[in-house]
Amino acid sequence: MARPQILIVEDEAQLRASLERGLAEEDFAVAAAGDAPSAAALIATRTFDAIVLDRRLPGTDGLTLLRDLRAAGNRTPVLILTARGALDDRVTGLEAGADDYLVKPFAFTELIARIRALLRRASIRGPAMLKVADLEFDPVRRRASRGGRELALSPKEAMLLELLMRHAGQTVTRAMMIEVVWDSAYNDLTNLIEVFVNRLRQKIDSGDGGSPIVTVRGAGYSLRAD
Ligand code: CA
Repeated sequence: MARPQILIVEDEAQLRASLERGLAEEDFAVAAAGDAPSAAALIATRTFDAIVLDRRLPGTDGLTLLRDLRAAGNRTPVLILTARGALDDRVTGLEAGADDYLVKPFAFTELIARIRALLRRASIRGPAMLKVADLEFDPVRRRASRGGRELALSPKEAMLLELLMRHAGQTVTRAMMIEVVWDSAYNDLTNLIEVFVNRLRQKIDSGDGGSPIVTVRGAGYSLRAD
């Protein structure tokens, strides 16, 4: 089995370095970031098996980063490091989408045990459901629902929705749609894409007006993340 990929997000340089070293010695593949933006950049380009996230970071804090990840459908197990053990800290951490938390200062062996437990749980849970606001998509069964109501999507519409959900809050260009959904070298599928997007909009419409799929003029489409 490949070495588990762990991302450490910690602004204290000394602690970050010692965690990097310690986890590498435990045979994890380790990446590290000192703040939320550089962590987000790493997460956008690589898939991690778990993230160790310091709650208090300069600028964007750990919980905001975590909320953004979950809103974008990222289900990577996250262990929050928190300096305080107060109950409300624990609750807000778990509400933001954390899978576990550890109070500083902690024993390194405890951290390792918690990470291994997260990895085990994730492997049992299997491929995660995608969730964006009230939209859900099961990548294995290819089933989608909105607000609990199952959507009757064609295979291509399901692919289109999955693509939008995996990139929620970002622009999905027509070129990406053609590559992923149509797997085709046609030069001009713009009209076809429009037809498909409009049909998908109708199917996921919850009747509250305002589709979560917005047109990005001249570029493509974007699924609202909130
Ligand atoms: Ca900190």
